[in-house]
Amino acid sequence: MQTFDALVVGAGPAGSSTAFHLARGGASVVLADKARFPRDKPCGGGLTGRALKRIPVDPSPVVERDVDRFELRLRYGSTFSRTHDEPLIRMTQRRRLDSFLAEHAAEVGAELRDGARVEALELDRTGVTARVGADTVRADVLVGADGANGVVARSAGLVDGIVRGVALEGNAPLHALSGDLERTAVIELAVVPGGYGWVFPKGDHANLGVGGWGSEGPRLREHLARLAREHRLDPGTLTDIKGHRLPMRRLGTPAGTGRVLLVGDAAGLVDPLSGDGMYEAFVSARLAATAILAGDLPGYTRALSATLDRHAAASWAAKRALDRYPRTVFAAARAPGVFDVVAGLLCGDVAHPADARGAARGPLKLIARLAG
Ligand SMILES: Cc1cc2nc3c(=O)[nH]c(=O)nc-3n(C[C@H](O)[C@H](O)[C@H](O)COP(=O)(O)OP(=O)(O)OC[C@H]3O[C@@H](n4cnc5c(N)ncnc54)[C@H](O)[C@@H]3O)c2cc1C
Repeated sequence: MQTFDALVVGAGPAGSSTAFHLARGGASVVLADKARFPRDKPCGGGLTGRALKRIPVDPSPVVERDVDRFELRLRYGSTFSRTHDEPLIRMTQRRRLDSFLAEHAAEVGAELRDGARVEALELDRTGVTARVGADTVRADVLVGADGANGVVARSAGLVDGIVRGVALEGNAPLHALSGDLERTAVIELAVVPGGYGWVFPKGDHANLGVGGWGSEGPRLREHLARLAREHRLDPGTLTDIKGHRLPMRRLGTPAGTGRVLLVGDAAGLVDPLSGDGMYEAFVSARLAATAILAGDLPGYTRALSATLDRHAAASWAAKRALDRYPRTVFAAARAPGVFDVVAGLLCGDVAHPADARGAARGPLKLIARLAG
């Protein structure tokens, strides 16, 4: 039986980044994924400015477009757009991004095993024994980076406190869409309860998607078809249609127990408002690796809450406000200065809407009050 300091289950952004930091810190680590890479993952593939500040390696080789313009629309009606002076989101395809990150983890010393499902987990006081593909592996620490439907959280009894949203996406040739989309992300507000619709430009195609509360699952195809039609596309021409869960943790929910830590979607770290999760995947990866290298596993959940909960609380509040009072929130978002704060939040330069100064303070306070 092979032994390691850590077994990381899942080589998405959270797992590969955790393995990267652990290996760089001198730990022996096996990074296992049941899929053979390159593999796809239902995702807009947008790396926000704040994710770019936390990603362990420069993703430029797999970036297909930079977005510096947002177009926001309410119920497929009123529209406004704003442009920022630097990229707000860098667009990737997860098939390429995830392989890139996993390869970098392997380069710094993590043992990457793709096509190796992790199962038969046996947790005890000093670590874990598991089947990794055809092998049996022993490790001192188990990191669950196995995403929204992972086995690690279930095995460790860490499944409570997560709200499960859903999203569905598809692709269309970029030239089939009207308007200047090359540097623009379109956000369609109040078209799905508990979420929104989006159109993101990629290299040769656009990614269209809808996400919302878990209860919207049965209606997502209808929502996606409407989004396509509103962009003058025949829904029947969308390709690669895929759905996936968006796990959103309630504040204070533990992300570890005993010798087990959860990172990324496995810990339910998707942002409740934006539905993005790669920033949180990178942040949690860094914090988990730091806790493991320092031998302070209980410190991980504390560090995670200290880093993410203030922002997550603001996201939950804005989500509630948008769900209840979409027109007022849309009008507030349009007010002078507000988009600069949104851009600051996206880029990680503003930690919380309450930190905003100037003209944006009033409209942002209004959104906070509407959340109740
Ligand atoms: C439609 C949609 C659009 C999104 N758009 C964006 C976006 O534009 N920007 C953004 O930042 N976020 C976006 N998100 C969220 C983002 O996709 C996730 O937050 C992110 O993938 C989390 O990364 P992760 O590494 O935690 O998990 P994942 O990327 O889900 O990786 C988990 C890995 O674990 C592996 N695995 C699972 N079980 C096992 C097992 N038993 N053994 C071995 N391996 C296993 C899986 O094969 C997978 O590779 C979107 C989500 C959806 C659904």
